[in-house]
Amino acid sequence: MSDLPGFMSRDEDDVVLDGVAVTNVEQADDVLLLSLSREGLRRKVEGISRWCSVNFMLFNETKSVVMVFGGKAGDRVPLVFGEGCQLQVVTEVSYLGFLVTSSGSSGPLRKHYNVKAQKAKRITGTMRGVEKLTGLLPVPCARKLYMALVDPHLTHGADVMVDHVERARREQEKEQEQYLRRVLGVGSRCRKCILFTETGLIPLQVRRLSLTVKCILYLLRNPALLASAAYRELVSLDFAGHRTWVSRLREAITALPYVVGLLEEINGGVGRWLQGLVDASPDLYFIQGRREPDARGDLAVAAPVALRQYLRVSHPGYRRALTRVLLGEHRYAVRRRGWGQARDRCLCRFCGRVTETVEHLWLVCGRSEVLAAGRRRFMVDIWKAASLEERAELQGLNDDARSQLKVILSSRRWVTISARFAYEIERLLKDSE
Ligand SMILES: [Zn+2]
Repeated sequence: MSDLPGFMSRDEDDVVLDGVAVTNVEQADDVLLLSLSREGLRRKVEGISRWCSVNFMLFNETKSVVMVFGGKAGDRVPLVFGEGCQLQVVTEVSYLGFLVTSSGSSGPLRKHYNVKAQKAKRITGTMRGVEKLTGLLPVPCARKLYMALVDPHLTHGADVMVDHVERARREQEKEQEQYLRRVLGVGSRCRKCILFTETGLIPLQVRRLSLTVKCILYLLRNPALLASAAYRELVSLDFAGHRTWVSRLREAITALPYVVGLLEEINGGVGRWLQGLVDASPDLYFIQGRREPDARGDLAVAAPVALRQYLRVSHPGYRRALTRVLLGEHRYAVRRRGWGQARDRCLCRFCGRVTETVEHLWLVCGRSEVLAAGRRRFMVDIWKAASLEERAELQGLNDDARSQLKVILSSRRWVTISARFAYEIERLLKDSE
């Protein structure tokens, strides 16, 4: 198709981007003709018809449409060209995988957000169906499937689409949130920040924005003539005070829940922001201040966003029970305190003397024989697996059940033992309700 530009007439109605006249754009066999007027477009269509006849091809009227942006009602009249041929004017068309609309105040790609959110929703539903046959998928596997099947829909076009319509962005964020809540087995009451700190995934708002900024950096470094010209044109318009893609990008960056300037700050700031949310949540005590292993295996690296070791426990019941304890999504009565219920509603269901906290049931309460027997097994297993230093650390914290339990729950060595005990307690609480 390299000879096609020779058939395109140049006139005063051509779209000009930073001094470059853009008459036609090709993507494989998809051709886009551009003009600022009906007459100009007619000349372009007649040009491509001539090109077809020279190359022994026919111009397909039924597969070609006209779209008018910002026009009047009269612009809906079919475009007539050649000898009685005509092209229909449409308000909605799918172009290169994008659903583009010419009407509506929220921009030409507003419906594209709906379409992609619906596709992500269908995939989440399919995953649910698969899990009915296979049982719950391991978290690393579900995470991989998210990146392979859901993320491509939710980030589709993010490199050129700025999320300036909050409602559209939230529709897609909702799909990401629902998928991750399902993977972790936590409900809507559980804090949103843990969906990312525990799985190592990035909030969609940040991920989409970083893709946009990466695209700009790519345009600035590479000689992609038309895309660079379009970007320079947008910057010029922005400097002239017009509302453009650039001003919307600025608004989208300002809308982030933390302050950023550069791409590194968009990506690096998300970790600090999420860690701040975790640190400010009293019910996330057991995951505050934790560390991930360094190259030597020592727990020394602060990683606000990572796929956590406890999510790799293979038994789905054990894994989910421990997840709920760590993320404050459990059945222990202390949760009722957060719901504003009276103190006596939060007392231990077995001894009735103190608040039913995680550390009380795990390490202290002696009124339930089943619980006490389970705890003996749990502590024996922990003790057997502990090194001399770890035993000394646990003994040193004998008077502080909460800190002692935090040490146990933060260890990678005891994670399966802890998960099994979390599951036993969860079943015990279920039976006592
Ligand atoms: Zn008790």
